[in-house]
Amino acid sequence: VPVVKAQTTPDYMPDSKFYKIEAILRPWRVAQVSTVLLKMGIRGVTISDVRGFGAQGGSTERHAGSEFSEDNFVAKVKLETVVSKDQVEEVIAKIIEEARTGEIGDGKIFLTPVSDIIRVRTGERGEKAEKMTGGRSDMNSTVKV
Ligand code: ATP
Ligand code: GLN
Repeated sequence: VPVVKAQTTPDYMPDSKFYKIEAILRPWRVAQVSTVLLKMGIRGVTISDVRGFGAQGGSTERHAGSEFSEDNFVAKVKLETVVSKDQVEEVIAKIIEEARTGEIGDGKIFLTPVSDIIRVRTGERGEKAEKMTGGRSDMNSTVKV
């Protein structure tokens, strides 16, 4: 019987210096998620109001639920944050910790490699553009959080 070992550093494919973590979440959990991300030094986050369907949307007995809009798409929030590879797993873990209720409709997280980052103000690219002053990498270079 093959033993499946939990990977601490998964080999994301394709390999990249940066990844976009895209989380589709319950709108009323987003404040909690973003507060905790900020506390851990994730200072760059983009939020969009979206609507979609998944297992929850296909569940007819939930059609009367207040989370449904008129056309049965469920209102969700898409949270996107681009982070360095070494931060991916801890950010995903925090999002799950803060967003999970255990009920259908908790959402999904997609991970995508990001080729480059350009800071418009300075023209910086790559690691320089990804790093936020006072962000997680700065926090970790002094005290482990
Ligand atoms: P500056 O130092 O010039 O202010 P910055 O790196 O802080 O640059 P902003 O111009 O403040 O970036 O960012 C503009 C918007 O870009 C933010 O409001 C946010 O929506 C988005 N954003 C910035 N960084 C990230 C990131 N790492 N992941 C996702 N969204 C980000
Ligand atoms: N990786 C960045 C840093 O540690 C933070 C990324 C982000 O805030 N999305 O400075």
